Amino acid sequence: MQFKDIVGQQDIADRLAAAIDSGRVSHAQMLLGDTPEALPMALAYLQYLCCTDRRHEDGHADSCGQCPNCKKIGQLMHPDLHLVFPNPPNGSNTVSAADYQKEYHDFLLEKGAAGSLEEWHAFLGTDIKTSMIRERDAAHIVEVLNLKPYEGGWRMLVVWKPTAMNPSAANELLKTLEEPLPGTIILLVDDSDEGLLPTIRSRVQTTRLRPPQTERKAEETALFAPLIVGWLRLLFKLKMKELAAQVDKMAALNRQQQKQLVMYASSLMRECFLCTAAGRPCHLGSGDEKFDSQFPKMITVNNIETIEGILDEALFALERNANAKIALMELSFRMSKALKKR
Ligand SMILES: [Zn+2]
Repeated sequence: MQFKDIVGQQDIADRLAAAIDSGRVSHAQMLLGDTPEALPMALAYLQYLCCTDRRHEDGHADSCGQCPNCKKIGQLMHPDLHLVFPNPPNGSNTVSAADYQKEYHDFLLEKGAAGSLEEWHAFLGTDIKTSMIRERDAAHIVEVLNLKPYEGGWRMLVVWKPTAMNPSAANELLKTLEEPLPGTIILLVDDSDEGLLPTIRSRVQTTRLRPPQTERKAEETALFAPLIVGWLRLLFKLKMKELAAQVDKMAALNRQQQKQLVMYASSLMRECFLCTAAGRPCHLGSGDEKFDSQFPKMITVNNIETIEGILDEALFALERNANAKIALMELSFRMSKALKKR
């Protein structure tokens, strides 16, 4: 997971990376946010921490995604990365997160680490409604945090949903937070810290992610979705006269809305790409079922970067007050070309 894979949290990623760059890595941290991006952010943070070839491009820092450490963390195969998460009691009190590692890895890889607790339960089996982090998990935490790092670097623990800890597990975690061995980093990740022991809260450095801007998003969607979906359908067919008329409509928006429109197109492309990669349907809402099911498949690993680059350049042109019709027409031709290179 790289910071660039995380949508809508660039400033948070920049801040976390800057802390690592300046050597200010707090040994106990909490990432809070009622957004699917919280766990991906934790994993991107650890990947950046361990990356041996950190990149700084266009004012943003990111891991390289290529070095052995990046690959191992990306595939959740790093021997010093330990994951603890709510797990079902399974009819006995002897199981712990350690017994569900394979399932959890598969779940994270399938959902891009963005799955909810309900989705985790569904992934395990339809009859599972609750799960917890219990004493056995606390014992597991103590055990892994006392291991010598295999790779000689950081000893990393991610606790997903610490609010699902029972009181004795919480007390055990508290002790661990008090005196971790040097080179340890503990990341707690949850929607909110409500119900978490105040003594735990006070011992961790908290970073809050930005909530998804649902209200604004709904307004934006109402305004931009028909314009963009109509535009994409015309790119598909490349009928010049109709395309020019559509571009006129888009250019009739004010400058701020034009920029938001391009950003909306960018988020939609990313959504299409993620849906296709995860094999789940994408709801474009064009009213044309065939288009809704076929179009997302045109956004693949082969053209997503080009498409995002093209949209970024259009945004940049609009920011510099370029002629909107020309900028959007240019964007249309380049997009149409990129879509064919799937
Ligand atoms: Zn790397």
